[in-house]
Parts: sequence; structure tokens; C-alpha cells
Amino acid sequence: MLHCDILVIGSGGAGLATALSAYEKNANVIIVGETYPTRSQTCMAQGGINAALGNISADSPKQHIDDTLKAAAGLASERMVKRLCESAPETIFWLDAIGVPFSRTPENKIAQRRLGGTANTRACYSQDYTGLKILHTLYDQVLAHEIPCLNERFLLDLAVENNTAKGAFFYNIREGKIETILAKSVVLATGGYSGIYHGYTTNTRQSSGDGIAMAFRAGAVLSNMEFVQFHPTALKGSGILISESARGAGGTLINQHGARFTDELAPRDQVSRAIWQELVKGDQVYLDISHLGESFIDEYIPQERKLCLTYAGIDPVHEPIPIAPVAHYSMGGICVDQNHMSTINGLFAVGECANAKVHGANRLGGNSLLEIIAFGRECGVSATNYATQSTAPHPVSDRHIADRLQQLLELPQQQNFYDMRADTGSILYQKAGILRDKASLSFAKSTVEQITTQLPEMGIVDRGNIYNTNLIERLKFENSMVLARIVLESALAREESRGAHFRTDFPQQHPDYHKESISFLDKGHLITRFQEVVS
Ligand SMILES: Cc1cc2nc3c(=O)[nH]c(=O)nc-3n(C[C@H](O)[C@H](O)[C@H](O)COP(=O)(O)OP(=O)(O)OC[C@H]3O[C@@H](n4cnc5c(N)ncnc54)[C@H](O)[C@@H]3O)c2cc1C
Repeated sequence: MLHCDILVIGSGGAGLATALSAYEKNANVIIVGETYPTRSQTCMAQGGINAALGNISADSPKQHIDDTLKAAAGLASERMVKRLCESAPETIFWLDAIGVPFSRTPENKIAQRRLGGTANTRACYSQDYTGLKILHTLYDQVLAHEIPCLNERFLLDLAVENNTAKGAFFYNIREGKIETILAKSVVLATGGYSGIYHGYTTNTRQSSGDGIAMAFRAGAVLSNMEFVQFHPTALKGSGILISESARGAGGTLINQHGARFTDELAPRDQVSRAIWQELVKGDQVYLDISHLGESFIDEYIPQERKLCLTYAGIDPVHEPIPIAPVAHYSMGGICVDQNHMSTINGLFAVGECANAKVHGANRLGGNSLLEIIAFGRECGVSATNYATQSTAPHPVSDRHIADRLQQLLELPQQQNFYDMRADTGSILYQKAGILRDKASLSFAKSTVEQITTQLPEMGIVDRGNIYNTNLIERLKFENSMVLARIVLESALAREESRGAHFRTDFPQQHPDYHKESISFLDKGHLITRFQEVVS
């Protein structure tokens, strides 16, 4: 059984930033992740990271705050947004200092581009590989400081006693063993849950919301789970993202008649709805960047061209790109206070798995990378401060975890969970997607409930110990079903339209819902309520 001060679960940008800042405060840190850090979803972020540097045109933290609050549609905490946006320039200078190779202007300033929903040119970038470069640089730092990073360990459950986090249980994917790590502070940095829209998402399979599901089961409160952002421009059929930087650079959206039909740089929810309306009419929608020219595309957005060529056989230098909106980002998550601590003592959450009250009903492009670094660094400090005042937890038994795993291995294979996962993704996309109403959400809810009751019939084929991905995917599927139910309950409860949540039966915003939804377990039952957003 390993011990540490700070156990960071998840090795994406949020986890690594948290670990580095806790290390700087002399904490004894262990990072644990399902994959290698460089495969975390952060590496897929392309467009940029926001900070009001004003390197291209005039900008200010105040304008950044205003844009963020406007997109959030009343569901963000002004205090948290202010902290995020005011710390953004310093966050970029820190990343620059540790070696992130930001693209530069001819004057050697950090280059910036415009993304949607903003008044100014604010996103700092590394070509269109921004997340990858940030992640690799953070990982270099982790390696340089010899912070232990235990890879290919799957979080099975949290160890929580008397509403206090004590550590966590993992499945060592390489060896098929259960491992327990005890800690004074536990930080969840396990990413979002857009992966529940399986087959209709820009996210990887990692985004089944495991950490969120486990925090919920352990008694933590979740908030704003109905808010899932749909990115307007994914490559049709594959869900591969064509970055907003393409529209920021002047890319246009056209229908099959070649006509533009929306403001390409409006907030993502508006653009996605406009595209959806074209698609349901039977029209195809395209993103056209051909007029930007080959040299511009290869210099500034080379990845977009490569993705189109590789996954659709289309060269955007010469032809428009067929696109469709898909699930991209989860605004909801584990409800945290201003120190990034959940409602469970000593359990912190940061990055896309958390709702730190900065995105509200809609996230601005470029604000998530900012959040994972700025709040990751804050979270490392908070978790260290908490650990300093705590005593080392006493050993805990993993017997119940071993029993649960054994039961899962013994389940009959009457139903194929991979088919169920595909069905659930499709139903969520159609019925709880860009447009939703009571009937569609109720249908999705009863389907998800039915599939959940059939889980005991969905055994696995592979009973081996080494790299049993069949087992891991089955565990993830169960977590995603927990989250699907919470998303649907929250979406049903919010009888209004706000940001990314658009109810065709309640198309207006309503003052009664100028509140965040919260979801929690009470005596085994899911409860959904609304509460004021604490500012
Ligand atoms: C295609 C794409 C493009 C994007 N572009 C931008 C952009 O330009 N700008 C921007 O601001 N945002 C962008 N985003 C959003 C942004 O990238 C993410 O919100 C952010 O990187 C999330 O970071 P994270 O550290 O919270 O989570 P992740 O990077 O998802 O990391 C989660 C970690 O948790 C681990 N994990 C998950 N489950 C388990 C488990 N059960 N056990 C152990 N470990 C587990 C994973 O392996 C991973 O290491 C983009 C997202 C996508 C998908």
C-alpha cells in the first residue's frame, strides 16, 4: 500500500499542473493515470489558450471577464471568473518560461488568434497543436522533478470514510492487480463526460466521466450536469474536430447551395443550432477554408489539413469540409468551492471533471486550457495546505473492491455492452443533444434506465489479467451510464433554454432557473435540485 501527501488522479493538463504546484510546495505527490500522460485528451486541444495579452489588438482582463460571464449566461461565479481571467497573463508567462513553444509574431511577441464568442483576439497558440505542446512541456517538468507517475492504472473507486477522502483503489492494467494508494489529499483530474455521446463526440474513450461517477457514488455533489457543449465543426461521420481557429482565421460555413447562414464566430451553442437546423432540413453543411490559401493553412492550421486528408480524404485547400456538430465539452462536473475542494473533505477536483463555476451554461473556446493550468496550479496549493493540516490515513481494506471485480468477471454474456454503448451514444445525441424537449429526454431516460437494469447480463469475454481492455471498457461503460442518467435528470428538471441547454418546449431563459442544478445521492436515490450560484 503506497502513501503520499497528494494523490493526483488523471495525468492530463489539469493533473500535471496540480502535481507540479504541489511539488513546488514540497508536498510528496503521486500522479496516477489510465494512460501515459501524453495520451491524455489535453493533447487534442488545438485552437489556443486565452489570456488578455493584447499582443495583436487592444484587450484587457476586464473584457475577458465580460466575455466569459456573457457566455456563461448567469451561471458562473463572478469571483471565480475574475480570478481565472486576471491570472491568465501570468499563466501564459509561466508556460512560456517552462518551455511551451508558443507561436510568435514578427516582433517576437506571443501570437494570438480570435476564437468564437469573444470581442478580442485573445487565444495564444502553438500552431494548431496547443494542447499537445502544453502537455508535453508539463510532462517534461514532471520527469525533470522525478515526480512519480504511475501509468496504466485505472481508478476503480475512492476510499472515503466519514465524508473524508483517504485515498483510492486502482486496477493495474499491465498486471491485473488491485493497488491501493492512501493520501492526505486526493485530487480528481480525470477529465469530462462528453464521451457518453459515444460515436458523436470529439472526445476519446477516456471521457466516460469515471472520476465524476466515483465522486458521486462516494457522496459528492455534482452540478450543472445538463450543460454539454456541442462543437459546431466536427468532420462529418468521424467526430474529429476541425478547430475553431479555422473559423477564427476567416473560414466560412456554407450549406449545399453555397450560401452562408450564420455568424461563424457567434458562441458555439448558436452556431451549432444554426448548423443543426440546416442538417434537419436535409442540407449538407461545409466549412470552407480554401480561400485562406495553401501557405496560410500550412503555416497556421496544418493539423486541420492533415486531419481532413487522413480521415475524410478531403484537401481543404481545394474543397470545402463536410461537418456536423458533436458533443465536445462538459461544463458540469464535481461541484467545488473556491479552493477546488468538493463536498467531500480532502477530495479536490480540477479541470474538466470539476465545475469550478467559470463556464456556466457555455464555455468559451480557449478558456478550458486556461482553467486546467491556472486552477491546476491553485489546486496544488490548496491540496497541499489541506494535507499539511491532516494526519496520514490508516490502512483501508480493498476486499469489497476485489469482490466487486470478481462479480463483474463472472457475469454472463447475454448482451454485448459495446452494442449498448453505441445505442446509448446515438440516443443521447438524438434525444438529449443540441435540441431537446420533455418527450425526447424522457425517452432517452427510460432507455438508459432499461439498459442499466440489463448491466448484470453484460459480462465480458476476456477474463485475462494482462491488458484486459475488455474489462476496462466495461467498467467505463457502467460509469457512463451513471452519468447519462444524471445528465438526463438535470436536463429534464431545467425547464428553460440557457447556453448549451436548448429546450424546444421552453425556448426562453427563465429567471426561476438563474441557478445551478445540483445532483447527489440520498439513501441511494438520485436527487436533482437547484441552488443559487455562490459568487
Ligand atoms: C479535440 C479537442 C480540442 C480542444 N481544443 C481546445 C482548445 O483549443 N482550447 C481549450 O481551451 N480547450 C480545448 N479543448 C478542451 C480541453 O482540451 C479539455 O477540456 C482539457 O484538456 C481537459 O483537461 P483535463 O486535464 O481536465 O482532462 P484530460 O486531458 O481529459 O485528462 C484526464 C486524465 O484522466 C485520466 N483518467 C480518466 N479516467 C480515469 C480512470 N478511470 N482512472 C485513471 N485515470 C483516468 C485520463 O487518462 C487522463 O490522463 C479541446 C478538447 C478536444 C476534445
